Amino acid sequence: MKKVGIIGWRGMVGSVLMERMREENDFKDIEPLFFSTSQAGQEGPEINGTTYELLDARDLSLLKETDILLSCQGGQYTSDIHPKLRNEGWDGYWIDAASTLRMEKDAIIVLDPVNRKIIDQGLTDGIKDYVGGNCTVSLMLMALAGLFEKGWVEWITSQTYQAASGAGAKNMIELVEQMRLVGENAQNLLDDNETALRVDRNVIETVRSPRFLTKQFGAPLAASLIPWIDRAMDNGQTREEWKGISETNKILGYAENQIPIDGCCVRVGSMRCHSQAFTIKLNKDIPLADIENAIVSHNQWVYLVANTKEETVNKLTPTRVSRTLDIPVGRLRKMNLGEQYLSAFSVGDQLLWGAAEPVRRMLKIALEHLG
Ligand code: NAP
Repeated sequence: MKKVGIIGWRGMVGSVLMERMREENDFKDIEPLFFSTSQAGQEGPEINGTTYELLDARDLSLLKETDILLSCQGGQYTSDIHPKLRNEGWDGYWIDAASTLRMEKDAIIVLDPVNRKIIDQGLTDGIKDYVGGNCTVSLMLMALAGLFEKGWVEWITSQTYQAASGAGAKNMIELVEQMRLVGENAQNLLDDNETALRVDRNVIETVRSPRFLTKQFGAPLAASLIPWIDRAMDNGQTREEWKGISETNKILGYAENQIPIDGCCVRVGSMRCHSQAFTIKLNKDIPLADIENAIVSHNQWVYLVANTKEETVNKLTPTRVSRTLDIPVGRLRKMNLGEQYLSAFSVGDQLLWGAAEPVRRMLKIALEHLG
């Protein structure tokens, strides 16, 4: 059995990965080794009755014994360790959730329901680095790859509504702490059936208070939103927005004639589901029925939600989609802008298809390839 080292298994993405690997019984096919940067020597996870001792994630000699390393540890770890391992001649597969290597020439961004051919070609060509994509990009492609595959997309704008989990575990906790403070401060007013105006004033006073908890997000998210994710680029975009065009085109293998993609990425108060509103310029007038067919026939996880109030509020929300691999697409309609303009809305669990699932599936593909 192949030796697979897992680093970052107890972090946000790593624990979702572990959950999925247990569900799919993936551990039966591998000899797992668990690494930590801070807990070497301590007890690690228990798998099928065996409790694994944690190994030092900075010990190159131990890492080099593996056939595959799967890291959900973060970009700094990848920057520190990956070049050292390669310099020392380790030529195993490096599978990663961090963005560090995504745009490297010799790395492939993995989303196998969309780019399996590119992954297989990479394996044949001896490429060794495989990296999960940005969460909004992966979720957009799981939803709309059928349209790209038909060659119908001229450009897309994507306005995102991104969950707290995208910023990490501490941010998820901070969001709920913020909600608690808002609720606690308004409790007496609610109990006394005060007017909405008084409750609103109380909520604003709470979130504007200098004592309000904003250590992780740097601003209130509960009862508000934050229209900025990641760091600034020179062109006025955020890096999260830049990933839309660069990663999508790389995943699809469009080196030239890139499809323009742009939009505004916004953090909202949902826990782990990202949502996106798309405006899609088609390169010709295509009947809505053909568009629907192209979307749903692409993969087994995407499905349509009827463009009615009842279906939308019940089926096209983070509440419904959270903790599932479902990719619903709804609010689908031609826009008043013209017959080539399509509006759509999609929701996806950003810890599953947005993070852990593509790397989990890549591990299986690499194992198949190694035979
Ligand atoms: P995270 O939750 O901060 O976990 C990273 C590491 O922090 C853990 O492996 C653990 O390493 C350490 N850690 C310290 N205290 C911890 C605690 N109390 N509980 C758990 N872990 C603790 O990071 P993440 O959000 O999973 O992100 C990992 C990578 O995936 C990043 O590069 C991120 O950009 C990328 N990514 C994240 C998302 C997302 O939605 N969050 C989506 C796509 C990609 P030790 O055991 O070594 O101490």
